[in-house]
Amino acid sequence: MNYSDSERIAGVLELAGYQKTLSEDNADLIVINACSVRKSAVDRITGNFKKYKKYKKKNPNLKIVLTGCVLESDKGRFEKLFDLVIDIKGIETLPKKLTICHSELDSESAKNNDLTVPIFSKLSTSEIDASGDNKQKILKQVQDDNAQAQDDNAQAQDDKNGIDTLPLVTRNNSDYFHINPQHQNKITAYVPIMTGCNNFCSYCVVPYTRGREKSRSVEEILDEIKDLVKNGYKEIILLGQNVNSYKSQIQNSKSQINSKSQIQNTKYTEITFPMLLELINNIPGDFWIRFLTSHPKDITEELIKTVAECDKCTEYIHLALQSGDDDILKKMNRKYTAKHFLDLIKIIRKHIPEVAITTDVIVGFPTETEEQFQNTAEVMKKVKFDLVYINKYSPREGTESYKMKDDVSWKEKKKRENILTEILKETALENNKKYLGKTIDVLIKKIDDDFIYGKTRSFKNVKMRIKNQESGIEGGEFVKVKITQVNAWGLEREIIK
Ligand code: SAM
Ligand code: SF4
Repeated sequence: MNYSDSERIAGVLELAGYQKTLSEDNADLIVINACSVRKSAVDRITGNFKKYKKYKKKNPNLKIVLTGCVLESDKGRFEKLFDLVIDIKGIETLPKKLTICHSELDSESAKNNDLTVPIFSKLSTSEIDASGDNKQKILKQVQDDNAQAQDDNAQAQDDKNGIDTLPLVTRNNSDYFHINPQHQNKITAYVPIMTGCNNFCSYCVVPYTRGREKSRSVEEILDEIKDLVKNGYKEIILLGQNVNSYKSQIQNSKSQINSKSQIQNTKYTEITFPMLLELINNIPGDFWIRFLTSHPKDITEELIKTVAECDKCTEYIHLALQSGDDDILKKMNRKYTAKHFLDLIKIIRKHIPEVAITTDVIVGFPTETEEQFQNTAEVMKKVKFDLVYINKYSPREGTESYKMKDDVSWKEKKKRENILTEILKETALENNKKYLGKTIDVLIKKIDDDFIYGKTRSFKNVKMRIKNQESGIEGGEFVKVKITQVNAWGLEREIIK
């Protein structure tokens, strides 16, 4: 999600005339996209600040902006450190805020020569105009959106103050979704289908930093993906904190959506996540669909069957376990049991036999005993995950579990993490051995001097030493690969073109 946010931040800035610099030394603006999920990430922001201060000394015009997931309780101290702290939910207003921030800081920097560097530099207006049809299209879109804006009063006020000199992406209430992202590569695109979360897991800051769950309109998602496919993207990753609760309404009379799931003879059709997958699968083109993240309380057999039936949906499910102990799951407010999770795995494997399953686990949640931890280890052994993101519990202010004593020591959390990593190594290797001797589809992601790197439909890494006859292979190609070697973290091979 943070990666996708960064692409959208870059999109907003590009539209406002900024371009990426190769090094922070040349930057006029550094934007830090924070993640507050774990305390260690927040501590890193403060730790890195010394480095940014040095850049500021070299470049007095440098502005440093903090955005992303920032807890309300952290905002005050960050506002003292950064030129601007801006909510990711309102990131489309960044250019306008920068205009204000620049003018304030320009007068400030005249007094105090203590400013620095970023990762963006500003283009001139003529450079924006010269950069092609696409930008013109975006700017036209911006103008149209602005014309329909509902906050005319605010606009009038801003014009009066003379600060609205940069284009806004849009002015309606779902701005984040309308931002044109600047994708970091030409093969994989992250497409947010919803933001926020309503689940309030007791340890998690997301509902506080990203707000309540909000689904993006189906038309907008389909339009973005059609464009991406037209532009050659091969891997579409749909993002949401709980994609299984996606819901959007379409007006039947207006929409030309062709889905076998469409309910006829009603004014509105509610599009659920399985229906959305079918609609995306119906878009012509050669591409793969993945999605993150599924919540065990909401994933349905209907969704699993849809993944099995849609040829573009890949054999990959990320289903967050968090704990294999029922009491801990209850304290986490996860609303399922270990048995329910194991039953879901059986259903997934019944419908999608080639599936790879990954998960998130938290070790050392408050009060987690050795026995309760062993229950998680047992579930991991039974499921035989392909990958597990193991997180040491980190108390986050404002969450329910923050009120509980963080009573599992860091050393014990580390020990539990190591135990789970050993289980994972065994199960992942066992799963990967099933690929030996098989010829499978691989999407080429990266090529360097010696190796070609790709991904399987099941999201496995494939690393291939370049041989002479493969020199013509390019990123974004689908190739057939015969797997001849495996380890716990990936596969190796022979390309059969
Ligand atoms: N919505 C996703 C879900 O429920 O599957 C998870 C999104 S959360 C931002 C990513 C992961 O961070 C969680 O699955 C959890 O394992 C981990 N996490 C969240 N809060 C945490 C905390 N306070 N301490 C440690 N890990 C945490
Ligand atoms: Fe956080 Fe739970 Fe929402 Fe995931 S489902 S984002 S863990 S509150």
